[in-house]
Amino acid sequence: MTLMHELSLLAGVVDTVLDAAQGRRVSAIGLLVGARSGVLVDALTQAWPIASAHTPLEGVTLDIETQAATVFCPHCAKEVDIDEYFALTCPVCATPTADLRKGHEFSISWVDVEANE
Ligand SMILES: [Zn+2]
Repeated sequence: MTLMHELSLLAGVVDTVLDAAQGRRVSAIGLLVGARSGVLVDALTQAWPIASAHTPLEGVTLDIETQAATVFCPHCAKEVDIDEYFALTCPVCATPTADLRKGHEFSISWVDVEANE
């Protein structure tokens, strides 16, 4: 498994978080990762110590929350969860739908910073 994709995503996370923290000490970072984002949680966990090494975020906890993928089914007229490996069809009525509503997320949900004394 190559970690290149995750390393470059996490390099972006490091930049964004350091910008937001404005010199304050960061204690934890929450990420939201969609099931269809193409990002593997295991790979992120493995890549984080490498991506954060020699930065002020080294040793900071990465808290990864996953978002299930959902599609909007025009037949059922509602948003339904799909398995990450399923084709884009409604799991209830098997109507094909490419209307992916959730699952592409890769974002920073929150950042815990310690108050400056
Ligand atoms: Zn349906």
